[in-house]
Amino acid sequence: MKIQNHSPLPRAIAQYAPADQAVLKELYEKGDLRDNADVGQVLKEYKASLSGSIESKGYHSYDQMTAALQELADRYPDKAQLVSLGKSGEGREIYALRVGTPDEQNPKPGVVITGCHHAREWMTVEVPLHTATTLLENYETDPACKDRVDQTVTWFVPMVNPDGYEYSRTKNSWWRKNRRPIQETGCPNIKGNIGVDPNRNYWDGKPENFELYRPKGDTPCSTEDDWGDGKTSDNPKADTYRGPSGGSEPEVQAMLNLELNPANNIKGIVDYHSYGDMILYPYGSKQLPADRLEIYRDIGSKMNNVLGNRFTLEPSSDLYPTSGGSNDIHEANGIIGLTLEIGRSFQPPASEIPKATAYITPANMVFLDEIRSRYAHA
Ligand SMILES: [Zn+2]
Repeated sequence: MKIQNHSPLPRAIAQYAPADQAVLKELYEKGDLRDNADVGQVLKEYKASLSGSIESKGYHSYDQMTAALQELADRYPDKAQLVSLGKSGEGREIYALRVGTPDEQNPKPGVVITGCHHAREWMTVEVPLHTATTLLENYETDPACKDRVDQTVTWFVPMVNPDGYEYSRTKNSWWRKNRRPIQETGCPNIKGNIGVDPNRNYWDGKPENFELYRPKGDTPCSTEDDWGDGKTSDNPKADTYRGPSGGSEPEVQAMLNLELNPANNIKGIVDYHSYGDMILYPYGSKQLPADRLEIYRDIGSKMNNVLGNRFTLEPSSDLYPTSGGSNDIHEANGIIGLTLEIGRSFQPPASEIPKATAYITPANMVFLDEIRSRYAHA
């Protein structure tokens, strides 16, 4: 992909030494350097990944995140519960904090807020935890938080991909995928490698939705990591490898089991990624019908309002065409699914966590209010 004319990046890149310019152009071509990037910070993070000088202190580890969720469940036992959704490839529990009290007779609207499909997107772990904490701590004093907790059931999943996250935090900070060794690809001449991109692996098993995982015209087993069939690859070595088959990854299975289980009555999902300050709605590979587009534009612009209208609201195919993304499958199942790309780099200094999470949480509150007002029973 060529750098677009409208992009502010060429001028920003030109200020760097030639060797750095070459690195930055390569990052741009991979989609790792985006229009609103803090170019110096992204370069610093990338170099840290090469030298192994990872600065993850201040971000929650998997164990610390689990303890933080457990602590909330202990403090608010009648409002929050720690639930395992299943195990990751390396055997870690994928935890959700369920906030709210389910009503089996008359199910309340369910919401899912996820972080860290992609290992290196560290701030996306912190946002769901912050929103869950805010909801519970303000229950007694803020009637809006009380309504959200009483009238919806919200599942906070800060770490969808715990194996990749721990690897990124301790070994290779630029790691994006999960950590499952791929032995069998189903393709000749493609040797296995480690990791599937969980956000290219979504398929609900319904034949009519198969093209959302693998679009018509895609060449199965192609090793070309090209843009022609979208930013989704069949090559196990690629960062955007879609996996040997749709829904093959245990992390994706765990999420789909939560999200598509009719008993959970899930109506809305916000999936956090970084970076770019974008609110993305489906589809990654085709267009929404007009009535659905209207709903997404309405909810998205209300969320953007509380974010100071600093975000770009657009279909995810505008960032780059993809298939196998979570929100395409959510939308195909009648669930409103948004992706928020937050911040200006993958791993801002941990000192920015309080400000960044406090800035984003109101958008989650707006989303909860929108789902509640659209789907709550009288
Ligand atoms: Zn991501």
